[in-house]
Amino acid sequence: MPGHIFGRSTRGSLPIAAAGEGCYILDAEGRRYLDGSGGAAVSCLGHSNEAVRAALHDQLDRLAFAHTGFFTSEPAERLADRLAAAAPEGIERVYLVSGGSEAVEAALKLARQYFMEVGQPGRHRVIARRQSYHGNTLGALAAGGNEWRRAQFAPLLVETSHVSPCYEYRGRAEDESLEAYGLRVADELDAEIRRLGPETVMAFVAEPVVGATAGAVPAVPGYLKRIREICDRHGVLLILDEVMCGMGRTGHLFACAEDGVAPDMITIAKGLGAGYQPIGALLVQGRIYDAIAAGSGFFQHGHTYMGHAMAAAAANAVLDEIEGRDLLSAVRRQGARLEALLHERLGQHPHVGDIRGRGLFRGIELVADRETKEPFDPARKLHARIKAEAFAGGLICYPMGGTLDGVRGDHILLAPPFIISDTELEELVDKLSGALDRALAA
Ligand code: PMP
Repeated sequence: MPGHIFGRSTRGSLPIAAAGEGCYILDAEGRRYLDGSGGAAVSCLGHSNEAVRAALHDQLDRLAFAHTGFFTSEPAERLADRLAAAAPEGIERVYLVSGGSEAVEAALKLARQYFMEVGQPGRHRVIARRQSYHGNTLGALAAGGNEWRRAQFAPLLVETSHVSPCYEYRGRAEDESLEAYGLRVADELDAEIRRLGPETVMAFVAEPVVGATAGAVPAVPGYLKRIREICDRHGVLLILDEVMCGMGRTGHLFACAEDGVAPDMITIAKGLGAGYQPIGALLVQGRIYDAIAAGSGFFQHGHTYMGHAMAAAAANAVLDEIEGRDLLSAVRRQGARLEALLHERLGQHPHVGDIRGRGLFRGIELVADRETKEPFDPARKLHARIKAEAFAGGLICYPMGGTLDGVRGDHILLAPPFIISDTELEELVDKLSGALDRALAA
């Protein structure tokens, strides 16, 4: 954990990140690391992007910060307009915060306030999925299904129901079609809403492509559409958490566009500021905001740094780069190339159980036995070994161990910058497969 946590110096135990160049980070000793995961799916433009740097200098020369209690700012207004215009149908309002957890927290509070305003005060329950991560603040942590992260804080967390994730690799029966599996698992939400009583449920929260808990697990075709229908049937708000998978990571600015679903709220962060500034956003259907505007008049929430001009300027510059350089096409093209390379190099590997994902958001699940899908003994900490081997070999990737819907397992998440070249993709897969074999041999 970096940053002198509780006085413990991290100097000496971690290299000092000194510079960035495209897809690489350089440490103070001059070693180069290929950023195969964008940190944690953050650095979508790579490092030291000239256009973003120029935009930030320009904004700093004008104004860094003016409190939103008194002012709005040109970059914040422009960003909100652009996000609303690009978002799925009906999304009209944008609430700018400083990161993913803040965006999820705001979504939960907005859902609650909405139901108070429309005279349904009984709706306070949240349903989410077991294999999910929605942030580390108490509300977002309560929504998330990562057992390890939740365990010690359990008494502080509001009660949340968790249904099955859409996790085809382990969930689908052999004789079941993808569609039938998607509908079956989505219908668990219907059953859970009925069990709790629809009049008590306010929201269902899910990541369209699961990131940190499971390594780029996309919903199967039809799953999210069925989820949308179920939420509509019971008057429950659908919150899609695109903090990791949004902002172009899947080859679409919003991942849910590929599923043909318009949620009531979307949370984004990470790639929105691309690491140049901390920023997140909550995007909301117009009718939800309108109900609040017509009721008490304002969302009873807020943080000092919301709508920060520097953060908004960075996000506008990131969007300019994505649009101006047609990076969504690049993500689709290079994503397909990465997928092909992973299958070519690791598809037959005795310990690679699944290769999955969308765009430049890819996951690899590791198993002790491909036939039985038996995971490795957690005591072996395979994910930590892979991370260390990859890092020593000059590759940053994001391996995680955890409970994958009740099964303990190891996976690797890849989320390289959208500007990654063919040779850099080959370097990534070379370094990764070497690290995997060294970690397995250890
Ligand atoms: N939601 C998802 C899907 C995430 O992946 C994350 C971060 N990994 C968060 C929320 C929390 O974001 P942050 O760390 O910026 O608070």
